[in-house]
Order: sequence, then C-alpha cells, then structure tokens
Amino acid sequence: MNVYLDNAASTPVHKEVLDTMLPYLSTNYGNPSAIHSNGKKNKAAIELSRKTIAKYLNCKSQEIIFCSSGTEANNIALKLAVENLGVKHIITSEIEHKSVLNIILYLEEEKNVKVSYVNLNKDGTIDIDSLESILKSNSDKALVSIMHAQNELGSINDINKISSLTKKYGALFHTDTVQTIAHIPFNLQENNIDFLTASAHKFHGPLGSGFLYKNEKLKIGTWLHGGGHERNIRSSTENISGIVGMAQALKMAYDNLENEKYKILELKNYFKQELKKNMPNVIFNEAPQNLYTILSVTFPSIKYDLASVLIKLDMKGIAVAGGSACSSGSIKFSNVLRKLKYNENEITLRVSFSIYNTKEELDYTVNALNEL
Ligand code: PLP
Repeated sequence: MNVYLDNAASTPVHKEVLDTMLPYLSTNYGNPSAIHSNGKKNKAAIELSRKTIAKYLNCKSQEIIFCSSGTEANNIALKLAVENLGVKHIITSEIEHKSVLNIILYLEEEKNVKVSYVNLNKDGTIDIDSLESILKSNSDKALVSIMHAQNELGSINDINKISSLTKKYGALFHTDTVQTIAHIPFNLQENNIDFLTASAHKFHGPLGSGFLYKNEKLKIGTWLHGGGHERNIRSSTENISGIVGMAQALKMAYDNLENEKYKILELKNYFKQELKKNMPNVIFNEAPQNLYTILSVTFPSIKYDLASVLIKLDMKGIAVAGGSACSSGSIKFSNVLRKLKYNENEITLRVSFSIYNTKEELDYTVNALNEL
C-alpha cells in the first residue's frame, strides 16, 4: 500500500486544478506581454487569477505579486524591506522556515541588520511578552517576521495579536503563511499584515508557483530586473499555468474549507485514537491552537534511530517526515525540535494529512509503527 502522509511538504495537484492548467501548457501558449490576442487572453487569465486570490483574502489584486515559491516570497519581503524600506532591525524566531532564517542571516552578515530572536514556548508558539519587550526597547526601523503555523508542529501563532503589537510600536509585519493559507480563512483588511507569503503546492496547486501579498502602502523596488513584469518587482515571463492552477486550488480550498477541515480532523483524530490504543505512551506535541493538517508525535519506545525508522516506513510505502534532510542525504535531528529542547534520543515524526487519505491507510500506518 502507498500511504502519503507528508502533505505539509507537498500535496498532490487536484484533478480540477490540472484541468485548469492544461490549456496553458498546450493550446493557449501566447506570451502574456504580447500585443496579439493569444497573449492578451493569457494576460487576462493572469489578472483574473490575481483577482480571485485577492477576493478570497479580502485584499486588492494589485497587492498580490506572483512568484515561484514560498522561499522566493520570503526572500523578496525580507530583502526588499531592508533595501527599500529602511529596515535596520529584524525580530524573528529561531524556528522559522530556513527560507526566512537564512535570508535574515545574510542580511545580518552583509547588510549589518540587527537581528533579535523572540523567546519560544515549548509548544512551538512565540512568547508574545518577549516580542513586546523587544519592540518596546527598539529605536530602529523594525520588521517582525513570524510564521503563522510552524511547519513541523502545526502550532499556530496569534497573528492578530502580533499585528496589533507591530502597529502599536510602528514596526512592519511579515508572516509566512505557507502552512495555513487555503486552510484557514484570512481577511487582510482586518489586520495589520504588511507582507504575507504563500506557496501553491501546499494546497493542491502546482509546484513552482507562489505569491507574496504586499500592502499597497509600501513601495518596494525591483527583485528580479528585466522586462518589468509584476509591477516591475519581479520580471520574467509569467508562469501562466502555475498562476491559474494556484488560483483554482485556492478557490477550491476556500469554497470547500469547512467540509475538508471536518474530513481531515476526523482522520487525524482517528489516527491519534488508534495510535494511543496500540502505543499508550505516544506523545502528541500540540499547541492549544494547532493546525488540523499537521500532527507531531513522539514515540518514546521506538528504539531504532530516525533514519532507520523513516527507511523502514518507506519500505512499507509510507511517507512521513522527521528531522531535517541534510545535503549529504542523511537525516539529522530537527533544528526546530532541538531549539524547543525535545529529547534527541526519542523519535518524533510529523504526520500531515489531506482529504485524499483514508482510514485504511491510517490503520496500515499504525500497524507499521506498532511493529517498530
Ligand atoms: N515556509 C514554510 C513554513 C514552509 O513549510 C515551506 C516549505 O515547506 C516554505 C516556507 C518554502 O516554500 P516553498 O517550498 O514553496 O519554497
């Protein structure tokens, strides 16, 4: 049996999304910048996709900048905030995604940006009081970059509270919502978010397509220099199929949100119940507000090392995540769990669900884990 429980890493593209994309890879091939009608139709498809995304997030369509990924959107927001908006101090957490942590390290080393890290709660959320005390004592132009849901734990930060604080202290606010966009409703008119990052392949859209929301009051310069696409921020001929696929996936996710959430939560609760029944000492690493698609679980009685566990599960056709893969292809204990002082001798796995999973798959996975 093949069991895919790594949906926080990437999701299968919905059939309807693929159907929306296919014409732009076959018959509708005009360059959107061209004068001829083939091109103009494709330009219109891109602008319609922008409008669709903006409608669901309740923002203006000109505030959506299409790009290739969550990684790119995070890089654009943070680098251009320093280069164009005078940011001298970035306040973040040590358990952000690498695409945030590493651009911030670059900005610290190469651009002399001051970096402060907020204290963390054991459940993977940030300590709001620590954020406020850093903001209170800050006198520089600051930007706070805090993710909405942590990608290994699913712990959800209160971005409304964070955005009220950034407003109170005059800081900018960037949030990486790669794990939550299309899984949780957003209303960008109602909070003080300046930049928001999203990636299509986390919500059944295509790989290679993402977007950055940028509040229109902020004037940033050029990220990719070229023909002036995406309001001169990110040049390059648009990834039309990727953009229309992403908009369709986002639309489907929000139109079916309650049903899908219900189904996924049912699967997750069933999995937890079966795990507990078979292995009473498992520990679920959950915050009071936790994303329904992600379950982090620790298995104190598994005696194999992490790589062996992942390989044994893979040999049974089960895909889950654990630790960080390094460039040599070996598996290391997760940096995120290390920062949160998890026991490095215990196995912690991330199991992440989608509507395509079934109870039979979960039974099969529980059995496999029980054998270990
Ligand atoms: N941010 C978070 C929280 C993520 O989980 C990921 C991917 O796993 C990214 C950013 C990077 O997104 P992408 O794969 O589109 O570059």
